[in-house]
Amino acid sequence: MTANEYVKKRFGRYMNECTYEEIYAALLEFVKEKAKEKESTQGKKKLYYISAEFLIGKLLSNNLINLGLYDEVKNELDKCGKSIAQLEEIELEPSLGNGGLGRLAACFLDSIATLGLNGDGVGLNYHFGLFRQIFEQNLQKEVPNPWITPQSWLTKTEKTYRIHFGGFAVQSRMYDIDVVGYENRTTKLHLFDVESLDESLVQDGIHFDKTQFAKNLTLFLYPDDSDENGRLLRVYQQYFMVSNAARLILDECMAKGSNLYDLADYAVIQINDTHPTMVIPELIRLLQEHGLTMDEAIDVVSKTCAYTNHTILAEALEKWPLHFMQQAVPHLMPIIYELHNRVMKKYQDPSVAIISKQCVCMAHIDIHYGISVNGVAALHTEILKETELNNFYKLYPEKFNNKTNGITFRRWLLYCNPQLTSLIEELIGPGFKKDAMELEKLSSYVNDDAVLEKILAIKDARKVILCDYLKHTQNIEVNADSVFDIQVKRLHEYKRQQMNALYVIHKYFEIKGGKKPVRPITVFFGAKAAPAYIIAKDIIHLILCLSQHISNDPQVSPYLKVVMVENYNVTLAEKLIPACDISEQISLASKEASGTSNMKFMLNGAVTLGTKDGANVEIADLVGEENIFTFGESSQTVIARYERADYVSKDYYEKDEDIKKAVDFIVSDEMKAIGSSESLERLYHELLNKDWFMTFPDFQDYVATKDKAIAAYEDRKQWARMMLINISKAGFFSADRTIEQYNNEIWKLEK
Ligand SMILES: *Cc1c(COP(=O)(O)O)cnc(C)c1O
Repeated sequence: MTANEYVKKRFGRYMNECTYEEIYAALLEFVKEKAKEKESTQGKKKLYYISAEFLIGKLLSNNLINLGLYDEVKNELDKCGKSIAQLEEIELEPSLGNGGLGRLAACFLDSIATLGLNGDGVGLNYHFGLFRQIFEQNLQKEVPNPWITPQSWLTKTEKTYRIHFGGFAVQSRMYDIDVVGYENRTTKLHLFDVESLDESLVQDGIHFDKTQFAKNLTLFLYPDDSDENGRLLRVYQQYFMVSNAARLILDECMAKGSNLYDLADYAVIQINDTHPTMVIPELIRLLQEHGLTMDEAIDVVSKTCAYTNHTILAEALEKWPLHFMQQAVPHLMPIIYELHNRVMKKYQDPSVAIISKQCVCMAHIDIHYGISVNGVAALHTEILKETELNNFYKLYPEKFNNKTNGITFRRWLLYCNPQLTSLIEELIGPGFKKDAMELEKLSSYVNDDAVLEKILAIKDARKVILCDYLKHTQNIEVNADSVFDIQVKRLHEYKRQQMNALYVIHKYFEIKGGKKPVRPITVFFGAKAAPAYIIAKDIIHLILCLSQHISNDPQVSPYLKVVMVENYNVTLAEKLIPACDISEQISLASKEASGTSNMKFMLNGAVTLGTKDGANVEIADLVGEENIFTFGESSQTVIARYERADYVSKDYYEKDEDIKKAVDFIVSDEMKAIGSSESLERLYHELLNKDWFMTFPDFQDYVATKDKAIAAYEDRKQWARMMLINISKAGFFSADRTIEQYNNEIWKLEK
């Protein structure tokens, strides 16, 4: 049955007589039915990828692509005078993630299904997501981001559990979202919800009573943790997630014939960052309920769980106060103490203790009681082994391994950039869709002028598409002939959006002083700041004020524009990335574990401007120094600076005229006239007196290298070669490769 026939069956009318809402509702069911046909129960052993975040993006078009139905449905719509782009706008983007970690989980699910592996995702069904970002008076404001509509990708299941906390219990329910592999099987994303949720608890933005756990558990991802109650709620959420996951795992394994002693033959659990760590003590507890001794249960669980580390920022490693745990999950405490005591007895080393300073160190549980610890890029894994987790590495060298992140090329090339996809297919055939390494074949065209022209034409077309999109969705006007310089990612000081903002100020002064760029430059930002992260919000405020100020300056605005897109999410990423010329990957070396937007940009023919950090290092190795713009201090230098603790930002400010001028502008009369003095002053003092992520030492090198990149853009043919080489080398960053490695080295699932 074609999609149009399906619509007719459902509504008694063909597509041409239906509204977009009706077509969307019908196609949702159509895709679900098609996906169901591809479900399979094959495989004794199953992977459970547990993650607090799954930033899956909209699903309709991607599922159609993966089912091989996209072109057919698009043509049917065309024939009825309907556009698939307009249809896509009906769908709301599930707001189930924050950034790279959640997007990684989504890419991994796609690759797991595409490779035909037996693996499901497990997470929570946050009704209001992270939050939706709106700008008011140049400030970020957070409002709920509801995404669950009467018809959605969620399928309600019969699975419910009673989950006990200290002093009360709740009823859970599992909802499923199909994960449709590319021309392969369908697996599942299981999202647990609490039956007693009360959405009306939320009032005034994203505020709600954080103490009513039975009613609030799945309202938001990462509720504001600036107060005790917010942090405590996260513990409740985490336990709710993993207790459900653990019960599901045991149910499924027993149904397949496990006697639980052999659990590791039936299940492997990937713990995505430390949020799901409590699955370890919870499984131990449940196994004891099933009759295993403590010894046996610990032994079984220790063969089943693997941990992925995503950060070396000490402040980001979760440590929960004992009294939180005691209140939320008293029944886990005897197990956690037992796990701690065993470690202390064996190693007598307080630095590897599970309980330390009245807190439970979540990562330490994962490392001691798991089979594997992996970093997410080569440099990151080395830093873990040599510094951050060195004491653990000495105990368990065999557990440590690297799995450089990847992205799904279905979403980040085939779907988001059909123009580039067609050109590639024209040149090297369709093999790259299944084997990304075939992109290497493109390198034979580096001196083919006709191909280089086509690549440039596609980029130009994508820039126009982005301009149209931003105009009609956010009322932002951009000059499509300018250089598109894009930094989109969570707002964090280590990612150094503030350094980019200082560049903008520097450029502003240059232009005012008569030094005009050959071609206008548009600097794009997109970023959400955590609601309680004050300095991050100050940086957003600065960028928005700069955007306004520069737009209103007729001397400068023809040459420089700052665009801060509102509510950066997957949908916007899909529009921004294909249009990018210069990909900003400027984290302080050693701080970005991997990055994945760097990979998406490269795949879409952007050239990276970056530090030697995370996966940028691997990008540079692949494309060669002449096809990337790197700058800044090395990770060793940065790590040494932190060790010496002798960085004084004021010294740079006082010695460097350019830095002083740019930083002073933050608190200038012009800025204060349009912004909040309090916010601007705070950011100014932060940079002057702290600059914890060392923007000043890298500033001049950044400016010079960015200007070099912008100048290089003018040699159009040479630039097109750089684009082509970047695309041709992106195959390594396919999540299919990453998942093959996880499977071969950690999960060992049958194919
Ligand atoms: C890929 C992606 C990220 C991760 O970006 P990084 O630059 O790697 O931090 C964050 N948000 C969205 C919406 C993404 O698509």
